[in-house]
Amino acid sequence: MKFDANQRKAPIAIIGGGAAGMFAAACAVRRGLKCVLLERKARLGSKVLMTANGRCNFTKDVSPEDFLAAVGLCSEWVSRAIRALPPREVIRFFRSLRVPLRRMADGRMFPADGKAATIVHAFGDILRDNSVPVITNCAVKDIVPDGAGGFVVRTEAFDILASNVIVATGGVSYPKTGSVGDGQTFARKLGHRVEPYRPGLIGMETSDSRVVSHAGKRFEDGRAKVLSPDGKVLFDYRGEVDCESFGLSGAAVYNCQRYIQHAGLRDFVLEVWFGRERLKFSNLRSRPVKEAIVTLGGVSLDDVNPATMCSRKVPGLYFAGEVLDIDGPTGGYNLTLAFATASLAVSSIARRVH
Ligand SMILES: Cc1cc2nc3c(=O)[nH]c(=O)nc-3n(C[C@H](O)[C@H](O)[C@H](O)COP(=O)(O)OP(=O)(O)OC[C@H]3O[C@@H](n4cnc5c(N)ncnc54)[C@H](O)[C@@H]3O)c2cc1C
Repeated sequence: MKFDANQRKAPIAIIGGGAAGMFAAACAVRRGLKCVLLERKARLGSKVLMTANGRCNFTKDVSPEDFLAAVGLCSEWVSRAIRALPPREVIRFFRSLRVPLRRMADGRMFPADGKAATIVHAFGDILRDNSVPVITNCAVKDIVPDGAGGFVVRTEAFDILASNVIVATGGVSYPKTGSVGDGQTFARKLGHRVEPYRPGLIGMETSDSRVVSHAGKRFEDGRAKVLSPDGKVLFDYRGEVDCESFGLSGAAVYNCQRYIQHAGLRDFVLEVWFGRERLKFSNLRSRPVKEAIVTLGGVSLDDVNPATMCSRKVPGLYFAGEVLDIDGPTGGYNLTLAFATASLAVSSIARRVH
């Protein structure tokens, strides 16, 4: 639906039409709340379209307890969001949109046709069918409290007066998808702390000829372990290992890299199984954040209420998804975190409004 810019008022302005923003808009529809969705790119869900090599591993079919145990560091903070929207509710949500789904043996969930576009189209359909104004090619430039409990959301072309704002602008990886850190800038300007950005779930560089000479080889039955310099196993993950021209990638390496970043390890050894062969590497470096699957860092969790996703500094301002300092491992965890935080933000607004 075309947004009537002359009207310029919305009970909820959702900034960012990625995983969290689209889910928030769909939740608003289901709760009968009016919202407007603002997206800087020409289309919704550019990053979602890239997920799992375009197949979209949107959740993992596990209990909330198992989900939170795998998330690790921020699990306590996100536990209310995940308990309110556990993976099985995410699955039910997509079924309710009539998306045929496929469950892998390990619980990873995909659209049955293996196309991330099916997920993005399902969001597009529910928003269109319910006449939600979706404004694309529309980068929000600023969010200014209006002094009366609401906000002026500034875009290049017009301002919107919104009673509540959900910032769902994502992290800073793959900036071509539109996630460039705007939400964190708005948050900082409004008095929130922003934790420094670091790459999460990304390959590790080595010039070791045993790897680079095999660039292009994939080992689905791989495994990687993070060891302390004295050989103690700190983290262990079974999963794919890939050889690249820059070094190592694949789910096992990504999850080890995430562990290393969170633990702030400088001195460590990565033990990697390429099928049956096992090699050890030291002096590995993470690839840059712009290539990461997820951004570590973002709006500080100290400044956002985990029971509502509302800012502790500015009432009526909510955060959802990767803009926050939350992240999970590979396997559908990050999309589910985006959905669950978005859902909680909308249900909190529903309570505030009613
Ligand atoms: C290659 C790759 C593969 C991945 N695979 C998976 C996977 O299989 N499973 C999984 O769970 N996770 C996966 N992820 C992670 C997952 O995609 C993200 O964690 C998730 O998309 C975050 O959702 P979000 O809504 O917070 O941010 P995003 O999806 O990045 O959306 C943010 C949106 O906000 C918009 N925006 C930003 N600034 C503004 C502004 N100023 N005004 C208006 N709009 C703005 C952006 O254009 C963007 O569309 C993958 C990520 C990558 C990069």
